[in-house]
Amino acid sequence: MSEFFSKKIEFLKGVGPAKGELLNKELGIFTYSDLILYYPFKHEDRTKVHRIAELNEGMTAVQLSGRIIRTQVIGEGHKKRLVAYFGDGTGEVELIWFKGVTWMQKQINANATYLVFGKPQFFNHKFSIAHPEIELLNPAEQQSGFLQPVYTVTEKMKRKYVYSKNISKMLRTLLPMAYQHIEENLSEAILQRYRLIARRDAVVNIHFPKDQQWLKRATTRLKFEELFYIQLKLLKEQKHKKKIYQGQTFKDTSLIKDFYEKHLPFELTDAQKRVCREIYRDMASGKQMNRLLQGDVGSGKTIVAFISMLSAIGSGAQACMVAPTEILAEQHYQGLKKFADKLGITIDILTGSTRTRDRRVLHARLENGNLKILVGTHALFEDKVQFDNLGLCIVDEQHRFGVEQRSKLWKRNSENLYPHILVMTATPIPRTLAMTLYGDLDVSVIDELPAGRKPIKTVHRYDAQRLRMFGFLREQIALGRQVYIVYPLIEESETLEYKNLMDGHESIQRAFPDQHLSIVHGQMSSVDKDFEMQRFKKGETQIMVATTVIEVGVDVPNATVIVIENAERFGLSQLHQLRGRVGRGAEQSYCILMTDYKISKEGRTRLETMVKTNNGFEIADVDLKLRGPGNMMGTQQSGLMNLQIADLAKDGKILQEARKMAQEIIEEDPELESLENSKMKEFMNLDQKTQTQWSRIS
Ligand code: ADP
Ligand code: MG
Repeated sequence: MSEFFSKKIEFLKGVGPAKGELLNKELGIFTYSDLILYYPFKHEDRTKVHRIAELNEGMTAVQLSGRIIRTQVIGEGHKKRLVAYFGDGTGEVELIWFKGVTWMQKQINANATYLVFGKPQFFNHKFSIAHPEIELLNPAEQQSGFLQPVYTVTEKMKRKYVYSKNISKMLRTLLPMAYQHIEENLSEAILQRYRLIARRDAVVNIHFPKDQQWLKRATTRLKFEELFYIQLKLLKEQKHKKKIYQGQTFKDTSLIKDFYEKHLPFELTDAQKRVCREIYRDMASGKQMNRLLQGDVGSGKTIVAFISMLSAIGSGAQACMVAPTEILAEQHYQGLKKFADKLGITIDILTGSTRTRDRRVLHARLENGNLKILVGTHALFEDKVQFDNLGLCIVDEQHRFGVEQRSKLWKRNSENLYPHILVMTATPIPRTLAMTLYGDLDVSVIDELPAGRKPIKTVHRYDAQRLRMFGFLREQIALGRQVYIVYPLIEESETLEYKNLMDGHESIQRAFPDQHLSIVHGQMSSVDKDFEMQRFKKGETQIMVATTVIEVGVDVPNATVIVIENAERFGLSQLHQLRGRVGRGAEQSYCILMTDYKISKEGRTRLETMVKTNNGFEIADVDLKLRGPGNMMGTQQSGLMNLQIADLAKDGKILQEARKMAQEIIEEDPELESLENSKMKEFMNLDQKTQTQWSRIS
C-alpha cells in the first residue's frame, strides 16, 4: 500500500487537530485508510422528495424541498427552541431545534430553497420535524439522484457537532485523492469469474453509490474480498499444518474387525460408516488428523469415537477423550466402557473429583502404557498426566483451543509425532459458521439418525394448561416411562434460581404424591449429583427435577418426556440440546415447552422453530439469524468474527464461493507464487502487518 493511506487523519482538509482527536478516540480512525474503511451502516434514499400534503403519521424519515417562511424563538431556559415554518406550496411543517438555537437561526437563509430530511411527527393537528438535517438544495446533486451514506457517530461527537454528514463530507474530499492509490487485490481471473467490480470502484461506491445497483455491486465485491482472504488464510494454515505436522500412521484393522464382526450392537447408519472411513483414512495417512465431527444429538457419535480409538489402540497407541463437565465425562466413560469391556480394552476416567490415591495409580498405568483409553475433564491437561504414546485425542468443541495447545506438550512418541485430533460438536453449527470457525479443520458430518427413531413430538403449552400437562405425565409414568422437568438458569441470582427449583420440586411432589423424585442442580457436589442421576437411571425415581446441568450427554433411554419450564428463557441451541435428552429409546417421546402468555417476538420464533423441526442444523440456522454470529458459541475465541462488511448469517452463498475459490488457489499454488497470484500474496502479508499495528494501537 502506498504511503498515502498511512497519513494522519488530522491532515485531511477540513479535519484538523480537534476533530482529528475526536475521530481517533471515538471511532478509532487514525489514518486516511481508517476513514476509507469506515463504511456507512446504511444509505438513505434521497432520490425521492415528498410533498408536505402527502405526509402521514406512519412515515419514517422523509425528504422535503421548500422555503423557510419565517423563524421564531419560543420559550426560555431549557425550553428555549427555534421554530422554522417551512412550506412547499402544498402545506406547511414546523422545523424545531432545541439545541444550537442561535447558531441555527444565523444559518437560515430566508429566500433559499432547502432540502430537509427527518422524521415527521403529528401533534396538535400539525406536522413537525425535530432536529432535521437541512441543506441548500443543490440542483446538480439532486439531478443525479443519490443515496446518502449514513455513518455511525457517537453521542460525544454529536455534542461537538460532528455528524454523519460531516464524515460524509470528509470522504467526499478524501476519496477522489485516494482513488488512484487503491490497488486491486484480487486476480483478474477471480474478478472475471465472479463478475466483481474493481476494488477502487467498490470502495468509492460503498460510500457514494451511483445508484442501488452500484451499491449492490460494491457490497458484493467487498464481502467477497473479505471472506475470500479469511478462507485463504485458514486454508493456507491448514495446508501448512498438514505439511509440517506428521502423525502416527495407524493402519491396523484387527481390533476394528473383531469389534465389527463380534460385538457391534447394531448396524451402523450409512453416515456413521462414511465418517468412520474418513477418520480411518486420515489416521492412516501419515499426517496429523485435524478433523471436526458434527452430528446432531442422538446421531451416534460415541460409537464412531470408539471405532476411531480402535485404530490407534490396534497399532499400539493410546487414546483419550476430553469432555467439558464431569457429568458428561462420566457419560462418555460409561458409553465407551460398554464397548471397551467387550474387547478387554482398559479404560479409566480422570476428573477433578478423582481421589489422589487413585490418581497416582492411574498416572502410572498411563505412563507405562497399560491404560489404553482415558476419559476425563480438563484435569487431563495437568502436567502430571503423561501418556506412554498418545495417538488420538477426541475433544468436545469447547475444549478445542485448550487441546491444540496441550497436544504440543504431551510427551510424544519416539518419532516426535503429535496425536491425531478429532473435535466433536454436540451442537450443530450452521455450515457458514463452521467453514469460518473450523475452516482449518476437515469436516465430517453424521447427517442421519439411526433407523427406527421416532421423531420427538414437541408442543408449546401455557401455564394455564398445567393441570392437563400433569395428567399427561401421569399417563406416561403409568406406562412405566420417566420424565424430566427442567428449570431455567436465573442469571441474576443463584438464590432465586434455587428457590425457583425448590418451589417447583415441592409443587410437583404435591401433584405426584406417589412418585419418587430426583433433584439435580448446579450447587450440588458432583458425588451427590451422580448419586441422583444413577437413581434416575436405574428407575428408582420417575421424575427428575433439574436445572440445565442435564443439558448435555445424559442418556436415559426410558425417559420419554421432557418438560421445560419458562421455555422462553432458553436459547434455541439449549432447547434443542435439552430436547435431545428424550427420544433415545424405542418409545414415542415428547417435549413440552411451558411458558407464560407474555413472550417476546424473538422468544416466540424460538418456540415455533422448536415445534416445527427436530433438525439441529435447521435450528442452528435460525439461531444464527436471531442472534448473529457474534453470540454463537466459540466465535469469540476464534477472533474471526470482527467482520467489517460480511455477515455470516446472511452471506452464506458468497462465503461458499469465496471458500471454493480459495480452495482452488491453495490446491494449485499453495505459496501464491504465480504472477497471477502475486498481488494476493502481497496483500496477505500487508494485511497481517496492518493487523498487528492495529492491536498495538487499541
Ligand atoms: P450422540 O451423537 O448424541 O452422542 P450417542 O452416541 O449417545 O449419540 O447415541 C445415542 C443412542 O443411539 C445411544 O443409545 C446409541 O447406543 C444409539 N445408537 C448409536 N448408533 C446407532 C445405530 N446405528 N443404530 C441404533 N442405535 C444407535
Ligand atoms: Mg454424546
